[in-house]
Amino acid sequence: MAFPEAGVAQLLADCKRHCCVCWRWCGSKMHLHHIIPRAQDGPDEIDNAIPVCLDCHAEIESRGNLGRQFSQAELREHKRRWLEICRDQPDVVIQSNRAATATGPLEALLSELEYNAILLTGDDHRTDYATLVVAQFERAIAANALSALGTPARERVYRLYKLISETADLIRSRMIHPPDGGSSNTISNQIRDKRVELRTQVASTIACLREALGGAQ
Ligand SMILES: [Zn+2]
Repeated sequence: MAFPEAGVAQLLADCKRHCCVCWRWCGSKMHLHHIIPRAQDGPDEIDNAIPVCLDCHAEIESRGNLGRQFSQAELREHKRRWLEICRDQPDVVIQSNRAATATGPLEALLSELEYNAILLTGDDHRTDYATLVVAQFERAIAANALSALGTPARERVYRLYKLISETADLIRSRMIHPPDGGSSNTISNQIRDKRVELRTQVASTIACLREALGGAQ
């Protein structure tokens, strides 16, 4: 079951494809959240839908017990206010576009993992591997965005980036001691093994994150 197409089209146009909670522009990455969840028999009626970005959706679905959770009444109010702004104050929409064009941290983390998966393809016997990127993980930590994930998904992300950091250390140490036989060859073998392990871990972490954020679509 899903929300009715005609109602969805109207709602997406009315919110100008912006998140009703943080006012970020979402484009095709818009999520429709059930204000009364399906698990509580929330209907697939458009009145029960609120357009949100992936990061806000993760926050709304979060069951962590630090801080305050989003209530259904609050979500209705966010939706009502944003739709009112879109209708009556288009200048506010333009300003919010200027202020908040950045992609949300969890969404950017998923993109970073997909890029890392590409960096891990190819020959494991080469020696000039690109270092995997970690900027969006650091951003997600700084923004405390990972707290919106359940514990298993969060810990999986932590373990993956620990492995990435161990691999980067090995690559650095090989740069200091270029291969000349002996211990450097051991380092090369360790890097190769890490890359094989990383390939599996990156793929499974992407799947796990998609599933954790998935209630989401
Ligand atoms: Zn948002």
